[in-house]
Order: sequence, then structure tokens, then C-alpha cells
Amino acid sequence: MIHITTIQNNENPSACSRCGKCCIGDTGALWPDELPEVTAEVITDYTTRGYVVRAYTNYHGTGYYMQPKMDEKGCIFLTPTGCSFTFENRPRLCQTFIPHEDMVSCRQPLGYSLEDAIAAWKPYQDILSPFVTK
Ligand code: SF4
Ligand code: SF4
Repeated sequence: MIHITTIQNNENPSACSRCGKCCIGDTGALWPDELPEVTAEVITDYTTRGYVVRAYTNYHGTGYYMQPKMDEKGCIFLTPTGCSFTFENRPRLCQTFIPHEDMVSCRQPLGYSLEDAIAAWKPYQDILSPFVTK
């Protein structure tokens, strides 16, 4: 996977291992520029490697985007010792959470919310739509 990011490593295993909200409750969105290119072939390849296309609905409407798949335990890339990816190779939304010891006031830089990821996928909705997982 190609990841282009300027987000500095902000890991805090001590806080995240006690919390787990990010990897157990949901998984982090990819941005389209993390894929080599956005084509049906590449999306097919990603769906065979543990990613899904999700539909997100809010008052702006519904948008499709990609993120790691979940099973009953959480993200399929989560291991007993944490994420199986290095920080640099995680989906961008996973990188953006800046952990805080209190596990409540974790922050995200501006421009890196789930809504921002969905907005970045907007030009590719027709390519994503056949792959949507309910
Ligand atoms: S970034 Fe914050 S909310 Fe996410 S798992 Fe770590 S401590 Fe919990
Ligand atoms: S890819 Fe890694 S950091 Fe992101 S949700 Fe999955 S286990 Fe957590």
C-alpha cells in the first residue's frame, strides 16, 4: 500500500492499549490518494486484502469510502500487541488520532476528520458503489 502523509508518529501504546476505541469500536478511513490509483481493479484488490467500502450517511447525504474490515473483535488488522501496520502504513485516519493519557481528549488535526476523508472520495463514488458493504 502506498501512503503519502506528513502526519508525524504520535503513538501512545500505553493509552491506546487501555482504551481501544479507535480499533475495536471502528476502523480508520483511507483517503483515495493512499491507493496506487482509484479503479475498479484496485478496489477489488483492496477488498480481497481486508478493506471494505462503507456507506456513511449524515445530513449532507450518503458518501462511500474505504476502511479496514471489522469482525466481532474489531479491526481485522488489530493484534494482541496492537496494529499490525507500522505507523507509516496505517490508514490515514488511524494516524490522525493524537492520543491523550486520559483517553477522552484525544485530538485530530484539522482537515483529517472522517467527513474530510468522505469528501476526498466524492469524485470516485461511481467506482466505489458496486463494492459497498452494508
Ligand atoms: S487515540 Fe485515543 S480514543 Fe483512540 S484508542 Fe488511543 S486513547 Fe483511545
Ligand atoms: S488499521 Fe491499525 S490503527 Fe487502524 S483501526 Fe486497524 S488496527 Fe487500528
